[in-house]
Amino acid sequence: MIFPSPSHEGRFFYSTIQRGILGRNKTITRNKAVRQYDIPWGRTMSSPRYETSCVERFLRYVKINTQSQEGGTRFPSTQGQLTLQQMLAEELREMGAAEVDLDRHGYLFATIPATSQKSNVPCIGLLAHADTTPGISSEQVTPLLHHNYQGDDIVLPNAPEIRIRAQDNPDLRDQIGNTIITASGDTLLGADDKAGIAEILAAAEYLLGHPEIAHGKIRIGITPDQELGRGTQHFDTERFGAYRAYTIDGQGLGQLQTESFCADTLHIEFTGVSAHPGYAKGKLVNAVKLAAEFIHRLSATDFNPEATEGREGFAHPAHIEGNAEHAKVSLLIRSFDVDGLHTIASKVEAIASDIMAEHPGAQLTSAVQPGYRNMCEILDAQPQVVERAKRAIERAGLRVRHEPLRGGTDGSQLCFKGLPTPNLFAGQHNFHSKTEWISTYDMHKAVEVIIELCREWEECTPD
Ligand SMILES: [Zn+2]
Repeated sequence: MIFPSPSHEGRFFYSTIQRGILGRNKTITRNKAVRQYDIPWGRTMSSPRYETSCVERFLRYVKINTQSQEGGTRFPSTQGQLTLQQMLAEELREMGAAEVDLDRHGYLFATIPATSQKSNVPCIGLLAHADTTPGISSEQVTPLLHHNYQGDDIVLPNAPEIRIRAQDNPDLRDQIGNTIITASGDTLLGADDKAGIAEILAAAEYLLGHPEIAHGKIRIGITPDQELGRGTQHFDTERFGAYRAYTIDGQGLGQLQTESFCADTLHIEFTGVSAHPGYAKGKLVNAVKLAAEFIHRLSATDFNPEATEGREGFAHPAHIEGNAEHAKVSLLIRSFDVDGLHTIASKVEAIASDIMAEHPGAQLTSAVQPGYRNMCEILDAQPQVVERAKRAIERAGLRVRHEPLRGGTDGSQLCFKGLPTPNLFAGQHNFHSKTEWISTYDMHKAVEVIIELCREWEECTPD
């Protein structure tokens, strides 16, 4: 593997890595020069240890349209998800998985039986989701392979105006010489989370074909409608039966996420004062205009998604509906702690109240719909599940990127249903967009981490 050379000092270090003088696994985690020269997280010289089918699987799975759909009462929300789940069920049976079961809600569970001589290795769950975001088409995805990537912007043939810019994608710097997969410009790619599915099934196939690798019982779970926030709505943790689990639904190489947002939805409803518009002078209070004024003032605050990053929370007006009499704005409120959630919600309500004070006769109602909570509330008390994941990443020769997730996963909800579930990287980048990309190298490393994770749990279990 070839590395770019951003600085003179860095060049020495890179070439040292390339020649392997510092040795596998030691280069990234133990050499202080790493931070000094700003070598990106996760970089490694090690080749993937296991040869698996993850890329071939991924290229097939993305072609099935599993876009989920807001509204509606069906579960799962779209037929395409069931089509993919049926195909995965068939593939799991063919590779020799046990207890393959696709239930009426579209949850696919399966088992890789234990190979360990030890009787008390805990059962570990591996989870990914079948759907893609409702916001962008995943119909007729055409995956494109860009071999031997050389650091340039990537042009998508069906939308030349959309480029994957190297300067906007710092993780691309790690991919020189690798194969990058993108869509063709019309659709998203669907690496979120078909990469996770492909990696889990490839790891399963490898483990089933290599019974000499000792591991405990492994449960596989592929969930529907995760992108709608409903991925665990019908998830039966008893039936799944895992002691601890991991979602494979994260981003760059080496990423481990044990913190997610806390999430609520705040519904603000304005009721105006009706009047015939021809005779409205001095009487009409138009709810559409109240809502517009509210959005306008909200846009001037510093808690907008467009203005926040890292550990900052936000209020995101995601939906608006109404007429001159009633107008309702639904806002996604996000923060890493519950206090922050309440603070942002109070500020939003204060803006709405100010507008009310200026328009006598108008009315305001506000309602909070609770969502998920930061999984660290549970995972902080379960250091073992996090520690094993860190070890697995290191065993694959990667540096752990411990980053908070500015969103939620199935794990955010499963943690509070009694199944502690951090999130591991799948290799997704620019998810929920037409510029989505993934590297085949990162996918192979994700499979390696999954296999090492299964081994780690077995090895850490006393006889
Ligand atoms: Zn996802």
